[in-house]
Amino acid sequence: MERIAIIGGGIIGMTLANYLDLNKFDVTLFDEGIGQATSASAGIISPWLSKRRNQKWYQLAKDGAAFFPKLRQDYQLDQTIYQQAGTLIIRPEKQLEELLALAAERKKDAPEIGTIEKLLPEQTKAALPLLKPVPAIKISGGGRLDGKAYLKRLKQTAEAKGVNFIAKRVTLSDSQTILLDNQSIAFDQIIITAGPHLKELLAPLGYQVDLRPQKGQLLVFQTMIADSGTFPVAMLDGEADLIPFMDGKILLGATHENEAGWDLAATQEAFQQLTSSAHKFLADPQQIFSAPMQYRVGTRAYTSDFAPFFGRLSPELLVASGLGSSGLTTGPYIGYLLAQQLNTGNENGTIYQKSLQHYISH
Ligand SMILES: Cc1cc2nc3c(=O)[nH]c(=O)nc-3n(C[C@H](O)[C@H](O)[C@H](O)COP(=O)(O)OP(=O)(O)OC[C@H]3O[C@@H](n4cnc5c(N)ncnc54)[C@H](O)[C@@H]3O)c2cc1C
Repeated sequence: MERIAIIGGGIIGMTLANYLDLNKFDVTLFDEGIGQATSASAGIISPWLSKRRNQKWYQLAKDGAAFFPKLRQDYQLDQTIYQQAGTLIIRPEKQLEELLALAAERKKDAPEIGTIEKLLPEQTKAALPLLKPVPAIKISGGGRLDGKAYLKRLKQTAEAKGVNFIAKRVTLSDSQTILLDNQSIAFDQIIITAGPHLKELLAPLGYQVDLRPQKGQLLVFQTMIADSGTFPVAMLDGEADLIPFMDGKILLGATHENEAGWDLAATQEAFQQLTSSAHKFLADPQQIFSAPMQYRVGTRAYTSDFAPFFGRLSPELLVASGLGSSGLTTGPYIGYLLAQQLNTGNENGTIYQKSLQHYISH
């Protein structure tokens, strides 16, 4: 049996571990569990009205969102982990008309977007009582994913199938050797899904990677709102989005801090920025802001063109990183495509990205 190591147990690595053919591969996943973006994430799965012009990225994000029904079925994701409760997009009236036209156009090859409705102010408030009456677009296909709960669920299923987990930081001494506590362990193939840490992992092997870390913070309010699990996600105009989860948990996020890099400290500035950005849209801000609150902080990985990359780097090495702000949407599908590539030997992700050489040089 071929021995495979995965470095990084975020959304890509954990999904990959689950879809690998364990009749062919003996799989070990190494994860140090620090700074993980997946566990810190806001959870919005709703890429269709993005105005990004990168067509390859859009194709990947669209197909990533369409992959969720399969994922839900394959791993029995219940509503505490993933739910399609819809998305509200709150913008000034004129922009809503443009977005409505874009939604209709995008629906032609993305039926999973669901129904598209323009809501009058009172209809928006009825759909999400936390908001003031403002006009909005509602798309029914939008979802939310609890990244931490997803990883927990997929770790259970992978363990049950026989994947080995080692909760340690590792480095590479060559493309087939992992160093763990000064001990060398050899593998036939290594897949690096370590978020922004890919850069430092590949450095000893002579690779330069176009990646930078970006700090993201969000606020988690534990409110008394009983029916929050039925609410749609609200993508507010400005820096903050409102993501309701079950049992009164309301997320407000997230910041995009390019200069803060690897820092994982929660800051008062983030609280100010997020709460003041959301304030004008909320019917009763204190209903949320006076509830017990916790921060979540994670590190995203970005490339210069804000696009992800994944695939085979050498006969023994595969890599995936650079998922930026939309990695919950694209990550599971990237993990699945990498697993298919290893299971079948056929490369399959080229339509979604520039070549790896665009991001990694030797
Ligand atoms: C605050 C915030 C909000 C976000 N909101 C959304 C959202 O609403 N929607 C959306 O689609 N995306 C969102 N994202 C983006 C998304 O979370 C990420 O793009 C995605 O989770 C990245 O997944 P990953 O598997 O590449 O990396 P990660 O989840 O970062 O996992 C990488 C793992 O590798 C491990 N690792 C690294 N180096 C080593 C090593 N040397 N040895 C062992 N282990 C190592 C790390 O500890 C980590 O566990 C958000 C991100 C943040 C930070």
